[in-house]
Amino acid sequence: MRIAVFAGDGIGPEVTEQAVRVLQALEINGLELVEGDVGGAAYRKHGHPLPAQTLEIARSADAILFGAVGDFSLDHLERALRPEQAVLGLRKELGLFANLRPATVFKGLEDLSTLRPEVAGKIDLLIVRELNGDVYFGEKGTRTLEDGRRQGWDMMSYAEDEVRRIAHAGFKAAQGRRGKLCSVDKANVLETSQLWRDVVIEVSAQYPDVQLTHMYVDNAAMQLVKNPGAFDVIVTGNLFGDILSDQASMCVGSIGLLASASLAETDGAQGAFGLYEPIHGSAPDIAGKGLANPMATILSAAMLLRHSCGMEAEAARIEAAVAAALADGVKGGDLGGSAGTKEIGDAVIARL
Ligand code: ATP
Ligand code: MG
Repeated sequence: MRIAVFAGDGIGPEVTEQAVRVLQALEINGLELVEGDVGGAAYRKHGHPLPAQTLEIARSADAILFGAVGDFSLDHLERALRPEQAVLGLRKELGLFANLRPATVFKGLEDLSTLRPEVAGKIDLLIVRELNGDVYFGEKGTRTLEDGRRQGWDMMSYAEDEVRRIAHAGFKAAQGRRGKLCSVDKANVLETSQLWRDVVIEVSAQYPDVQLTHMYVDNAAMQLVKNPGAFDVIVTGNLFGDILSDQASMCVGSIGLLASASLAETDGAQGAFGLYEPIHGSAPDIAGKGLANPMATILSAAMLLRHSCGMEAEAARIEAAVAAALADGVKGGDLGGSAGTKEIGDAVIARL
């Protein structure tokens, strides 16, 4: 197993260092870690946020552990050279089309949620968002009409193979969880969504053990607040997934606890290639101070072992250690605690 480690900017290197320590503490046979430069750090060293040698490391690896990119002092650069292009470039170059964002409330942290504790405590869901299609990648433009009004447009489109592969990702994820998949669309209004729904229903024939339901996106937004405990896996398109996954993360609470995976093919027994990163950014306000909570990155490493290495037991061990540390009151500043980055890393390793 070859894991590329791209720490990036700001708190990226600090939180990634702790996740790497956790991986090393598991003493997994044949686990090889290879570092590469991304983001502002890579721009300063090589003149590009995603240099060719980094892409080469990514292509030779089984998975990528990613910290964060972002650097205000490089805002003057043309868009293609800005740090954020590193993660967008990796998604595109490596065909990472499935974004998985679990949202769970850890015991004792229910009060961090924007929801009432009795509702928040029931959240244990996974959003599977399509990343390479939809309105973000359709034809777009602006023009001035004959009568002088300005007009803008973005074409929403999905081809059936694009829907099919994300549907498979959703069903497989549901099989590994509570066996419930909710497909979110707007099929009452959108042709794209009607095709989405038809294809998801076709694919469902291959997963008789998964209970499939459909929900319109407006209702899904409401149900995420009203009754989030009813969801297991949500599968949805790029635009709806963008909005719902941010909503779900606020339903859960702290930014320092949430992990994500971006996957390429989800078929194949030995697991799919993927990029794993915390949902937070480079947090320049606390960078270099040893204050960042590394748990989101540590939990991303757990997702990496589960999805790309087929190491469910090791992934569960990491997650249990994080939960135990939180239960014992080990909390970073984002949780109102005072534990520093390394201290949290130590606490998780001690509980592995
Ligand atoms: P980006 O554009 O890179 O996503 P952002 O503007 O969304 O960045 P973040 O970098 O995610 O912002 O930071 C948002 C706030 O959350 C900041 O105040 C930051 O200090 C805090 N924060 C982010 N990650 C962590 C963490 N791991 N531990 C503690 N605080 C964090
Ligand atoms: Mg952000």
